[in-house]
Amino acid sequence: MDSLYTYRYIREGRSILREPLCPFCGCFFERPQEIEIDIEFVLGGRCECGAIYVCDPSGRNLGEVYMNALLMLSGGDWDKASSLDADVDFEERTLNYDPKAHRLVRSSTGLLQRMYNGKIIFLRMRSRIHKSD
Ligand SMILES: [Zn+2]
Repeated sequence: MDSLYTYRYIREGRSILREPLCPFCGCFFERPQEIEIDIEFVLGGRCECGAIYVCDPSGRNLGEVYMNALLMLSGGDWDKASSLDADVDFEERTLNYDPKAHRLVRSSTGLLQRMYNGKIIFLRMRSRIHKSD
């Protein structure tokens, strides 16, 4: 990386990064930690509002990360995780995320998309629905 590129990276980078706030309640969320769920390790955390989040630093494993997020939302219960319906049982927000800076990224297109390809998925239960067995 030459110095001009580095300069542009920093300058443009700063302008598009924003505070790490939960998309549901607007509170700051903690830097994702390694959490063991079932047999998986995920990079994620839990917000005070009950939302959970899981980070995909590469942005290339979103499907897998999304499943892990669902599992985390269900407290490690695969049956419950597979019975949940998006937009019925829970809400989902996928945001651009820079795990090194611990900042959300406003938009990532073109060149920025290659610099900031990390994603963070937030899930929150809509309400406590108890389905009968
Ligand atoms: Zn929250």
